[in-house]
Amino acid sequence: MSVTSEENDPRLLYTTEDAAFRQRFRNWLEANKVTAKRSDVDARRRWQKKLFDAGWIGLSWPSEYGGQGATLRQEFIYNEEVARAAGPEPLNSIGLLIAGPAIIACGSEEQKKRYLPKILSGEEIWCQGFSEPNAGSDLASLQTRAVSDGDDYLVTGQKIWTSSSRLADFCLLLVRTDPERPRHKGITALAVDMKSPGVSVKPLPQITGEAEFGEMFFDGVRVPKENGIWPENEGWLVAMKTFTRERANISFRSSLQLQKSFDSLVESARAEGGLDAAARQKLAEVYVDVQALQLNCERFGEQLYGFHSSMIKVAWAEANQQLQELGLDRLGAKAALMPEQEGSWQFGYLRSRGNSIEGGTAEILRGVIAERVLGLPRK
Ligand SMILES: Cc1cc2nc3c(=O)[nH]c(=O)nc-3n(C[C@H](O)[C@H](O)[C@H](O)COP(=O)(O)OP(=O)(O)OC[C@H]3O[C@@H](n4cnc5c(N)ncnc54)[C@H](O)[C@@H]3O)c2cc1C
Repeated sequence: MSVTSEENDPRLLYTTEDAAFRQRFRNWLEANKVTAKRSDVDARRRWQKKLFDAGWIGLSWPSEYGGQGATLRQEFIYNEEVARAAGPEPLNSIGLLIAGPAIIACGSEEQKKRYLPKILSGEEIWCQGFSEPNAGSDLASLQTRAVSDGDDYLVTGQKIWTSSSRLADFCLLLVRTDPERPRHKGITALAVDMKSPGVSVKPLPQITGEAEFGEMFFDGVRVPKENGIWPENEGWLVAMKTFTRERANISFRSSLQLQKSFDSLVESARAEGGLDAAARQKLAEVYVDVQALQLNCERFGEQLYGFHSSMIKVAWAEANQQLQELGLDRLGAKAALMPEQEGSWQFGYLRSRGNSIEGGTAEILRGVIAERVLGLPRK
């Protein structure tokens, strides 16, 4: 018996069109399947281009900017099939899940036409330059300065924990344009060309051993004012819209990968036989969390791009951490051998520690849920 949700799953009211969509994509994936390590940048870039050329990327993005104009339900089916096929992750994950959706929400018509198709094709890789050494959870205290100089800004400052910064062609950067205004009101969001003179990036190795993120330094970097996403000094709104999309998209997509990992754990436990009560309890507990997460992702629909994204993000981070811990437990002493880093339970466990930090820590998100979803007063 499979525990993966399918088109005949009674929980979901799939239309005939949805079922045909699923079959079309499944067939395409089967005919075009490739394997590539997470670290194989070229192969992941080629994979993204292939998806783009075949019209299998940016599913719910507007078709005028290279997307497919599909429904959220189809996006869900799409992600389910991607997880099922266990193919490589397209290279431009920050562009696809964070920067692109932020530009769709806040960019001008010209910016959408300029940036979105190349994000989808993987021609231009993006990163997200929000966090600074003294501005993570308290993002409004960011210090990177942009000073007006004719038609340009001159940007100086430092960002940290920037995923994909070493690969990036563009950065969605938050800068302070008016230090005299209240903290939230003097921030601007810019699209910054990472090849501009004065930009440098230093890798930051993580607990997994890979340097997925880095530190970025801006030393008098000239950025045209026309690269401002949304009007000057209104970058806080861009940040908020970016966060809700980031939290929703990462959790939405990953919840289906989580199901796939869970299924493999259950398969191996069944094959082993004689599971002790504690392991059975734990598997059942994680199953409940994974199912609840998926159903909530579907139930929320468009609300996913509001404050509900915090609920999904907390639930996903905690479910993945529990699942990875369980996977490691099941492996027992063999875990210490670290046979193959990428794709292994060891890698998954170590990487999952960051899930409750990236895109907003679990504590911050619980604060958002208390205040914005439940309407609880502050003391
Ligand atoms: C894997 C990974 C990838 C990342 N990628 C990016 C990226 O691409 N771009 C980017 O800009 N940033 C990125 N980040 C940074 C991430 O957004 C920050 O780490 C995060 O916002 C927390 O900020 P901080 O590290 O400064 O911790 P701090 O804000 O210093 O928090 C430290 C601790 O204090 C708690 N805390 C702080 N304030 C409060 C409060 N008000 N109430 C309750 N508890 C509180 C926090 O929950 C946390 O436990 C990434 C982080 C990780 C782990």
